[in-house]
Parts: sequence; C-alpha cells; structure tokens
Amino acid sequence: MADIQSTEKSRELFDRAARVVPGGVNSPVRAFRSVGGDPRFMVSGEGCRMTDADGNTYVDLVSSWGPLILGHAHPHVIDAVTAAAVKGTSFGTPTPGEVDLAEELVARTGVERVRMVNSGTEATMTALRLARAATGRTKIIKFAGCYHGHVDPLLAAAGSGVATLALPDSPGVVGTDETIVAPYNDIDSVAKIFAEHDGQIACVITEAAAGNMGVVAPRDGFNRKLAELCRANGALLILDEVMTGFRVSKNGWAGFSGDTADLFTYGKVMGGGLPAAAFGGRAELMDMLAPSGPVYQAGTLSGNPLACAAGLATLQLCDDDLYAKLDAVSQTLGEAAVAALTEAGVPHRLSRAGNMFSVFFTADDVSDFAGAQAQNVAAYRAFFHEMLAKGVYLPPSAYEAWFVSGALDDEAVAQIADALPYAARAAAK
Ligand code: PLP
Repeated sequence: MADIQSTEKSRELFDRAARVVPGGVNSPVRAFRSVGGDPRFMVSGEGCRMTDADGNTYVDLVSSWGPLILGHAHPHVIDAVTAAAVKGTSFGTPTPGEVDLAEELVARTGVERVRMVNSGTEATMTALRLARAATGRTKIIKFAGCYHGHVDPLLAAAGSGVATLALPDSPGVVGTDETIVAPYNDIDSVAKIFAEHDGQIACVITEAAAGNMGVVAPRDGFNRKLAELCRANGALLILDEVMTGFRVSKNGWAGFSGDTADLFTYGKVMGGGLPAAAFGGRAELMDMLAPSGPVYQAGTLSGNPLACAAGLATLQLCDDDLYAKLDAVSQTLGEAAVAALTEAGVPHRLSRAGNMFSVFFTADDVSDFAGAQAQNVAAYRAFFHEMLAKGVYLPPSAYEAWFVSGALDDEAVAQIADALPYAARAAAK
C-alpha cells in the first residue's frame, strides 16, 4: 500500500468549509487541532479502509469513533438501509423497525424498557432528567475525564474533545453548579461526596469503562461499589455504555464485567453508523417517561427507520465469532504497538478495556484523568502523523480510544505493523 501522496483536495475542502462552518468541522476533534495539520475529507469506505478526496486510502482505526464495528459499507447493513429507504425515510409514527431494535436491545442487555433517541448526548441528557425526577434531587456526581456528550451539566471536566483542545469548561454552559466532579477510579472520594451532600445526590454517572481520556478501565469492583454507594444513599447509578455497549461484548461492558446499574445509555454500535442511541432501565423508572408518566422527552426523528434498520442489521452480526475476532486483532495490534515503542525507547503504557485500547505516552500507569494528562502529547502527535503518512488512520487526539473493526484483514494488520516502528522512532525524537 502506497504512502499518502497529495492532500491538496482535502486542503481545498477544509478552506471552503472554514468559510461556512465554525472551524471547518461539525465536531471539534475532526479538525486535527491537537495533532496539527489538515483533516482528511473522506469520500468512501469499504471494509477496514477509507479513501479521501485525493484518492489516498487509509486503514481505519477510528471506525467513526466506534459505531462501525463491522467496518465501512458492510453489505448486510447497506442492504438493510437501502430496503428501509425505498419504503420511506421517516413517518413520525411508530414503525415496526423500532420494535425490532428495542426488542434486540432488551434481549441483549436485560433492561426492561428502552427509549430511542438520535445521539448519545440525548441519551445521557434524558437519563439525567429521569434520575432527577425519580429522586426529587438535583445534584449529580460525574468523573473527571469522562465524556457523556455535550449535555450542559455534564460538560465539567469532560474528556474527549474538551480535553483534546485543552479547553476550560465551556462558556455558555449552565447547571454545572449542581455537578460534583470526582477523580475516576477513586471510590473513597465518592463516599466522601455522598457524606458531605447527604440526601442531595440524584445520581452518579460514569462511563462503563472510560474511553474519552484515552482508555482507562474501571478498577476491579469500582462500578459495583458505585452501585452499592448509590443504593445506600437513595441515588441512582447511570452506566454510560454509549461507547462500550455492544462493542466490548454482545451486551456491552455490563455483560463483560457483570456490573449493574439503574439506568444505561447506549449509542454508536447500536446505530450501525446512522444516528441512533437509546437509554434504558427498569420498567418502574422508564415508565415515568411521557406518555406513560410525567417526565418529558421526545424527538422528531427518534427511532428513525433507516437508523433502526442499520442498527438491527449491525447487531445481527455482533455474535461470539465477531467478538473473538475483535479481541484477537486488538491484542495483536496492542502488542505490535508496545513492541515498536519499546524498541524505540519511547515511554508508554498500553491501556485496555476489552477490545478498546489506547497508548499513553507516559512511563506511569494511568488510572484517572490526571494520569492521562501527564502523557507526552507531542510524542503522540509525531506518532500519529507518521502513521497517517503510512496510510493508517489513528484518532487525531491522544485522549481517544483506538477502535478495531471486524473488517480488519491480514493485509491491513501487516500494514499497521509495518508502520508502527517508523511512528515509534518519530515519537522518540
Ligand atoms: N457518552 C459517551 C461515553 C461517549 O463516548 C459519547 C461520544 O463519544 C457520548 C456519550 C455522546 O454521544 P454522541 O456523540 O452520539 O452525542
């Protein structure tokens, strides 16, 4: 596979975009601000590869930030979306596909009810509203470095793009005065917050396994202890599975680890690359939502037939064989990255949660956001650009997970393995 040649057309598109779209992108991390250089405008994808406007092809380790667990344009998904599209793109009425997808989610996760929305942000926003309504309390606990979408009260010490751009908390946000931020993986600090705010905490929200400060798995028992603390204090636990759900196992991190919660949020994989997300939990809680109950939530395009078709088609192929393949390829790539960085003498830590992983450019173990921030971002920048030049598309940020897909073939794995030593030497400089 040839190294990347001209990127002139991407440059022209970025110039055009910057005249009509803030920063030239519709989601900040896409702009390459933290790694420098110009973003690549993609025009097509097939399997584990995508092609930019200049005709360069990349092996994709971002997978649209998680959703494309089967790779690009999987025929089963495309057939399902096409079949749905020819029947009509939206009705504003209930449709059979929503029921099919909801039944699939319930069967996989064990939640009793799910409500479909369009994005992970909407899912966490409404789960929060429901937790506040159910408890009659307003304060919430979240963890530094965990990202739950751009929901106002959750944009405090958020990871992902906010961390990537090293932004302080965003202007224009209200409601974070009710948000208490705790260090990730520190159960004692959560216990202390509960003690200091007795009877006031509505919920704790946590990523099932953190993937938005780079990948940082919860310590053994951390999520379970959170559930216990919530129960003992009359608060609810929201496990945000938008990233981990149906990615790390058939039924997400909860299935992988045995963790439980009162409410769960899902997104990414369950939409198969189209905008679909959901939140769910016990019937008694979920039935507080309108029209069964008084808590309002709605969406013009919620449960959209194309998105439900893509999600269901994707989940139909998310079987044991797929997860075995994802685990194996993630293991191979992680080991290859470690070998290359070790050989080049670059301090690093490979960090994983199931098949999600990332590499921190630091000599110390990372268990929280402070640890993630101690990494050498400049080294990642050099590493990223060398991989990109060799046709491997890594996340354009040191604070994001690397996402493998079932479409990664031997040739792609070899291409990544061949590129890694060059990237490691670039990071060593
Ligand atoms: N929750 C988690 C854990 C996420 O990783 C994300 C997005 O990356 C979200 C919520 C927000 O989802 P969306 O970007 O679909 O709004």
